[in-house]
Amino acid sequence: MAPGLSSRVHIIGAGLAGLAAAVRLTAAGAAVTVYESAPRAGGRCRSYHDPLLDCVIDNGNHLMLSGNHAIMAYVKAIGAEDRLAGPRDAIFPFVDVATAARWSLKPSDGVIPWWLFNPARRVPNTSVWQYLSVARVMRAGSGETMTACVGASGNLYRNFWEPLTVAVLNTAPGEAAAGLMSPVLRETFLKGASACRPLVARDSLAATLVDPAVDSLTRAGARFKFGTRIRGIALSASRATALDADDTAIPLGESDTVILAAPAWIAETLLPGLTAPPPGEPIVNVHYRLPRPIAAPGEVRIVGVVGGAAQWVFARGDIASVTISAASDFADTPAEEIVTRCWPDVALALELGDTTLPPARVVKEKRATFAQTPAAAKLRPGCRTTFANLLLAGDWTDTGLPATIEGAVRSGFTAAAETLRLHAAKAA
Ligand SMILES: Cc1cc2nc3c(=O)[nH]c(=O)nc-3n(C[C@H](O)[C@H](O)[C@H](O)COP(=O)(O)OP(=O)(O)OC[C@H]3O[C@@H](n4cnc5c(N)ncnc54)[C@H](O)[C@@H]3O)c2cc1C
Repeated sequence: MAPGLSSRVHIIGAGLAGLAAAVRLTAAGAAVTVYESAPRAGGRCRSYHDPLLDCVIDNGNHLMLSGNHAIMAYVKAIGAEDRLAGPRDAIFPFVDVATAARWSLKPSDGVIPWWLFNPARRVPNTSVWQYLSVARVMRAGSGETMTACVGASGNLYRNFWEPLTVAVLNTAPGEAAAGLMSPVLRETFLKGASACRPLVARDSLAATLVDPAVDSLTRAGARFKFGTRIRGIALSASRATALDADDTAIPLGESDTVILAAPAWIAETLLPGLTAPPPGEPIVNVHYRLPRPIAAPGEVRIVGVVGGAAQWVFARGDIASVTISAASDFADTPAEEIVTRCWPDVALALELGDTTLPPARVVKEKRATFAQTPAAAKLRPGCRTTFANLLLAGDWTDTGLPATIEGAVRSGFTAAAETLRLHAAKAA
């Protein structure tokens, strides 16, 4: 049942968690206001025009998988299903910088992993039995790291577990929580090819995941207050009573609800006593503007790189972008040095020959995700708080998933469902 006509849901933060909550709530007929401190929506998933490259770039390449069912429901709800792009099949090409060897992981259809029995579809020089380490990750205890489950040596580790862990958990395997990897494996790789087709935003993150949401929500009557920082939440013993929006008090009605969808480090300042996982390592992206397009319009090429400075290379039109996750080593490295160190990996991955180093932009996201270690994962709070009308959302809340778009969207859906439940209970 929708919240009553006199009630409003106040969402703090227009990242994907806040937007996903707003999408579900407006669809249920709720009145929604979204407060966003930045001039536009998107949070850690945003795009902007870069004056040096003279084109729109994303703050970072964001890889999604076709098995991310919350993302799929979200893009459908905002009418942006056609704005995701990726290879037609589930295929992950890799190149090794040390040897220039190339291979592709090609999961097969269905839940039985037939592809592992075909040496041409798995990591070279690995035996099918080594993949039993997947079962070990699926049984991981909450205190176990990835290396405790899969070891820290051998071809399978170097060419599969290490790149996968760093990409998914933004944390080195020796520190990364195996318990956060298992749901990803269960919902994607273990379901077969149809659930692990790689997907990215076709044109930009904003054009795929953000602007269509803001547009459809606005059309549905949601109010957006951009450039409005919530500086405090007034609390009685049992509920939130007002918001302090840039020093203007916004009183909350008896039936109003607040969804706090700001990042963990902001939520902690707004809600005294809240425990949240600490920030983890940075993610660094480098965008190169190539002299000519190397991908057809709408086409995206994705190549995993092992043994280099770059970890993943994405090519869209004339932009080649590098992702380096768990990038503490690069946090203080000058941008020019990162650009020159990654360029040979890009040229190799995309087979660019002797193309000269093009103009490039480095984006360092210092607080990209929370530290996805076993200890930090235990600090994730649930959606409900001790204040009846104050709920939490965000990739850092206890979704059971890593800090990803899928986790953020799912947290928003959970907060929306909880809000509707609260209102239904009140109305009963
Ligand atoms: C470089 C990079 C690469 C990534 N790669 C991937 C990837 O490949 N795949 C993947 O799935 N995920 C990836 N992620 C993670 C993904 O971006 C996040 O999990 C997701 O965007 C988090 O969304 P959120 O809504 O929880 O938080 P946020 O995006 O942080 O949204 C919170 C919002 O709250 C706003 N806010 C903060 N304080 C206030 C306040 N006081 N008042 C009002 N508003 C406030 C912020 O401005 C922000 O817009 C990546 C992240 C980064 C940074």
